[in-house]
Amino acid sequence: MLDKELVWREIKNCNLEKEIKRDEAMKGHTSWKIGGKADFFCIPYNKYRLKEILLFAQNYQLPIYIIGNGTNIWVGDEGIRGLVVKIAHTLDKIEYSDKIIKAGAGVLLSTLVKNTVDKELAGLEFAAHIPGTLGGAIINNASFGTEAIADIVHKIILFDFKNGQFKELNKEQFLFHYRGIELGIQDFVVLAAELSLFPQEKEKILFKVKQYYRKRKESQPVNSLTAGCVFKNPKEKPAGYLIEKSGAKGLMVGDAQVSTKHANFIINRGSATANDILKLIEKIENIVEKTFGIKLEREIKFVGQLPGSGTL
Ligand SMILES: Cc1cc2nc3c(=O)[nH]c(=O)nc-3n(C[C@H](O)[C@H](O)[C@H](O)COP(=O)(O)OP(=O)(O)OC[C@H]3O[C@@H](n4cnc5c(N)ncnc54)[C@H](O)[C@@H]3O)c2cc1C
Repeated sequence: MLDKELVWREIKNCNLEKEIKRDEAMKGHTSWKIGGKADFFCIPYNKYRLKEILLFAQNYQLPIYIIGNGTNIWVGDEGIRGLVVKIAHTLDKIEYSDKIIKAGAGVLLSTLVKNTVDKELAGLEFAAHIPGTLGGAIINNASFGTEAIADIVHKIILFDFKNGQFKELNKEQFLFHYRGIELGIQDFVVLAAELSLFPQEKEKILFKVKQYYRKRKESQPVNSLTAGCVFKNPKEKPAGYLIEKSGAKGLMVGDAQVSTKHANFIINRGSATANDILKLIEKIENIVEKTFGIKLEREIKFVGQLPGSGTL
């Protein structure tokens, strides 16, 4: 059992209390606007402070949870026992040399695209309206249509906190797959990445960004509280199709609802709890399995405590 008071005293002794907060409401850090309080929460100033904080947490056996901008995660109503490290809005420097771009993991994809469009560099248009960070996009191998972050990342810079080492991995040292990446390292935080883009006229790039947005607006509930797609697409058919055809479109639990626009999105209509969303996810899984005999795999990452159980 975590002795929060003891940990807090040690945080103060190590002069980390300016960056680490106590009892932070995770509702403010998830796009679904759900989740209880995290025992400890921080947005580190830079990679050296991040290293210090992660090593401190390990020393006190605090479970560590890394998040980006919280746009593809579920956090339980009972909150998170341990330390949440948020990378969005920090580690967000963008540097250029020739056609290579080095961007911090905390930079929002929308900001990165604006920046690269100004430099007349193309290749990231698909990501302009994905609300996450570059780090989150790498972990999830974010994609839209036929384009994915995997196509343009050629180096990843990370901190391996199990071994206390900063590392740089070249393309041949990692393997992207559908909604994921294999790095061969267990406990790490992505700090930055190098991306290969190509020169193109600004108007052409902007045209493509707008086209992508139009497509997204037509098919997704872009103005609602969601966390993107809840399930991965099985090989047989897209998850949205299976959910819709099994009759679960529009289904509700509390204030959580399967989107009537795109059935692979769950909307928080205002006051949905994490528990409502979880129950709805389980209902969808049951209905699709009964109808098609297909077990849906969750794309959403679960962070923290499930109701009445231990840590995930
Ligand atoms: C409206 C909407 C539209 C979306 N559209 C798309 C889409 O078109 N395509 C798509 O692929 N996704 C989409 N998403 C999902 C989501 O935005 C992306 O997957 C995004 O890349 C997640 O980034 P994030 O920073 O929010 O990560 P989070 O949700 O905070 O975290 C996701 C995972 O990455 C890990 N992680 C995050 N940052 C780091 C880091 N620096 N180091 C180590 N681990 C890290 C977390 O531990 C977690 O496991 C959408 C979401 C919403 C809400």
